[in-house]
Amino acid sequence: MEPGAFEVAPGVHRIPLPLPNDGLRAVNVYAVRDGDGLVLIDSGWALAEARQQLERALDQLGHGFEDVHRFLVTHLHRDHYTLGVTLRRTFGTRISLGAGEQPSMAAILAGRVEGQYRDLVRWGAGELVEPLRQARSGDREGVDGYEPPDDWIPGAVDVPLAERILRAVPTPGHTNGHLVFLDPEAELLFAGDHVLPHITPSIGFELARAGSPLSDYLESLRLVRSYPDMRLLPAHGPVTASAHARVDELLAHHERRLDLTCAAVGETASTALEVAGRIGWTRHNRKLADMDLFNKFLAVAETAAHLDVLVRLGRLRSSTVDGVVRYA
Ligand SMILES: [Zn+2]
Repeated sequence: MEPGAFEVAPGVHRIPLPLPNDGLRAVNVYAVRDGDGLVLIDSGWALAEARQQLERALDQLGHGFEDVHRFLVTHLHRDHYTLGVTLRRTFGTRISLGAGEQPSMAAILAGRVEGQYRDLVRWGAGELVEPLRQARSGDREGVDGYEPPDDWIPGAVDVPLAERILRAVPTPGHTNGHLVFLDPEAELLFAGDHVLPHITPSIGFELARAGSPLSDYLESLRLVRSYPDMRLLPAHGPVTASAHARVDELLAHHERRLDLTCAAVGETASTALEVAGRIGWTRHNRKLADMDLFNKFLAVAETAAHLDVLVRLGRLRSSTVDGVVRYA
């Protein structure tokens, strides 16, 4: 990842910032000119190195942290939200987040992770609960780095800046309160993690998970598809020419994945964990058994999300016995 500020449109710079884990490599913060200062879309992960790189990138644009008028954050995941919280402690910068993130924010602030463990039991993956609990006790997950935003963006609203109007559009799925920001005039889509050019975003990875996050996600993809095509400015990966082209690929991916998941259910009723163990993961077709704990968790959650959509479509039936859901 090359640090710096890269102009992607007049008055808009992409600023890649480092992440501690290797998977996504970098998160893009977008600096949008707003009169004599800037508005930042997403903020980065609260790491000393990310803060330094952001400071240098802003300096390259002739600005400092004190010139940032506001953080518009696409969703509450750590790599998007927490550096804004750190900077607000010094500079008082306003932070705005989608109102749909309220339940997960409340759960984070209260350290309420039990809902996620209940989900694991429902998915037949109760064996992962204790290892996850232990992994969490040693790391910085939980309240660390989180504080509520200054304001909650209530729905589809216009955010007027000095030279443009950004339209906030709720796109639940990746998280329940995920927002994208459109600049219709400049034909730009600040997509957060909703539409990523090289990977498919995780679905419903949050403490207060929606009833059927994949149904929400597919609907949100169709919503983005209903706007005129725009350039895709994603939170991870390069800027690309067409948001529509990538939305079509993501919709096709999930169609294939739904078929694959349905076919993997087999003769006897299966749990999400069992089904996840029968299908390949990532581009490299990895086996569930070979994945680390966190990725196993994501894979089982992803499988459960597909199974729930298949039930909604009438292609499968589900039954719950002793808190464990089986699909047939
Ligand atoms: Zn995310």
